[in-house]
Amino acid sequence: MPRRELEGLLLRMVDFGESDRIVHLLTPESGRLTAMAKGARRSVKRFPGTLDLFNHLRVQLFRSRPGRMEYLQQAKLLSPQLALREKPARFALACFVLELLDRMAPEGGAPADCRKLYDFALEVFRFLEGCEPDARMRTFIEVRAFDALGLRPELRRCVRCGRELEGGAPLGFHVGEGGPVCDRCGRTGEMLLPVHLGTLRALDAVLRLELGQLERLRPGPEALEEAARLVRQFARFHVGIELRSERFLDEMLPLGPPGAA
Ligand SMILES: [Zn+2]
Repeated sequence: MPRRELEGLLLRMVDFGESDRIVHLLTPESGRLTAMAKGARRSVKRFPGTLDLFNHLRVQLFRSRPGRMEYLQQAKLLSPQLALREKPARFALACFVLELLDRMAPEGGAPADCRKLYDFALEVFRFLEGCEPDARMRTFIEVRAFDALGLRPELRRCVRCGRELEGGAPLGFHVGEGGPVCDRCGRTGEMLLPVHLGTLRALDAVLRLELGQLERLRPGPEALEEAARLVRQFARFHVGIELRSERFLDEMLPLGPPGAA
């Protein structure tokens, strides 16, 4: 199938040679893919206003030979998602999600998984277009994005024995194992992140609710701070790369208690 038409979200562009661009797209059929946009740097006629970050497109791709990179032949703008750029905090959070998708979304993969991730991307950007994000929403959206990428922390059961968690005493969260460790399974001297059951329940609710319902979730300041720390450490370990957009996001939506550096 040398020529195909599909939807895509523009994740990234890299200049190539004197006049071309390589575009990274997230698609519902093939996950993340890269394609060569010939003449995209020179000719505005060819891709008039279509090749910009966040753009939701319908594209036509052509592959000259198996194994070769596809050429982007045409791109039609379905939505520019312009509202994402209207507020600095919203833009910073959208950039973070976009970069995370660009770095972590698989190339290819099971069609159902590709579709699910694509639907998440469209849904989260549509949600952010109408949202005034704060640090709380940043943590919520980050954990939702990791979940969509298959990096879901365990929040209800001990990661070692599978026992449902209970009680009010602080628990330990094992960042590498991706979940809490109950008092029976904890080993002396191991490094666990202290966390309360209420914090894990709040994060669990973040993953279960519709995006539009997240606004209603208002954990207390301590739980929020714990959740932010947990999500950040989870990301450091499991994402394993530093995202360029994170510094901008830290400036716009700093985590941690007010006044903390
Ligand atoms: Zn256990």
